[in-house]
Amino acid sequence: MSIQLKDYEPVVGAAVMQELFVLAERVQGRRLQNINSTPVGGGVAEILTRMIPLLRELGVDATWDVIKGDQAFFNVTKAFHNALHGKREEITEQMFDIFRETTEANLREMAFSGDVTLIHDPQPAGLVLRKGAAGGRWIWRCHIDVSAPDPRVWEFLRPYVEQHDAAIFSMPDFAQQLPIPQYMVAPSIDPLSDKNKDLDADYVSTVLAKYGLNPGRPILTQISRFDRLKDPLGVIEAYRMVKKRHDCQLVLAGGGAPDDPEGMDVLGEVNERAASDPDIHILDLPPFSDLEINALVRGSTVVLQKSTKEGFGLTVSEALWKKKPVIGGAVGGIKLQIINGVTGFLVHSPEGAAKRLAELLSDPESCRRLGENGYLHVKQNFLMTRHVKDYMLVMLALDSPNEDIVHLN
Ligand code: UDP
Repeated sequence: MSIQLKDYEPVVGAAVMQELFVLAERVQGRRLQNINSTPVGGGVAEILTRMIPLLRELGVDATWDVIKGDQAFFNVTKAFHNALHGKREEITEQMFDIFRETTEANLREMAFSGDVTLIHDPQPAGLVLRKGAAGGRWIWRCHIDVSAPDPRVWEFLRPYVEQHDAAIFSMPDFAQQLPIPQYMVAPSIDPLSDKNKDLDADYVSTVLAKYGLNPGRPILTQISRFDRLKDPLGVIEAYRMVKKRHDCQLVLAGGGAPDDPEGMDVLGEVNERAASDPDIHILDLPPFSDLEINALVRGSTVVLQKSTKEGFGLTVSEALWKKKPVIGGAVGGIKLQIINGVTGFLVHSPEGAAKRLAELLSDPESCRRLGENGYLHVKQNFLMTRHVKDYMLVMLALDSPNEDIVHLN
């Protein structure tokens, strides 16, 4: 049975729902066209899959389109993605040409119908060239950490970004010098989706057994696309250090995304590093493995998200919601979700991760306390109802861009 708005009330409370209904009245019937670069894989697709039906039920005419690109284009945008995160990448003029050509091809094919057009991330940013003809308000919704971008890529992107009517970043650290209004909206998880809903203990046991995991021994888990910025090799290193003193099993579960061409290479590196350790379980999961991912996290003792760069990292909130202690890299949006020592631990190295893992493996009470705190933190800040509310507020704010205050009556 499909999830409906009323199903959220027992989770978030009547007051939160009431707020949504009040705002929804103000944006009834508006067309909100979302455009990104992949229908599956990664956090943006994860959010849109759940948010579009919710917005529609609230009366916003929300739609979702995906740009087309070939392998060359996605190689370019992945290099841009890494470079915007501050990683050194070889950037050439030809790459800019490929970006422009694919933008032109998409402009020829796509129809624009939004009162508000929400462009997610750099890949479709060039579509703003159609803003004049298409009309409406255009927002660049940036999900990545652009606090210290490679200047060549940022200066290429900036003229596109500046043609939007506003930009949305996930946290204040990512704000840029721009001549357009900037809003801060943190991402969110859907507590009722297959990825996050409560599961029977039997189902969790079945999934652990399916992947050869022993529920009687500690399980450390990282769920991530196989991406170097998620530092899967660092996770293996931390596991090896802690394994010297504590029995444990490691799960690295991930899958690909069509707009991420590096996944297979990284998976190869991870397999090689894991060698033949029977306690390292590398799971290359197909898209839509949400129930199994949910079960793997619920069956885990500690969850890791040891990224070296991160826009937000939905996987952190997904684990905190399940009351798991989380060890995360002290970067980007992970710092919004993990309050060090309260909802988890922030680390800067494999050694740091190993130290915290060892502490948690010998202290179940700390695990429980961090998990409880984490659950409350997510409930208050990172559920989709808050995210939907924020988007409706931004739509209203754009009605009167020269005023600081949104009028609700
Ligand atoms: N995810 C998934 N299957 C995988 C790996 C990840 O469904 O094999 C999901 C994960 O649960 C999360 C999203 O993809 O909901 C990843 O979002 P995040 O913000 O953590 O990272 P991104 O991939 O966007 O960098």
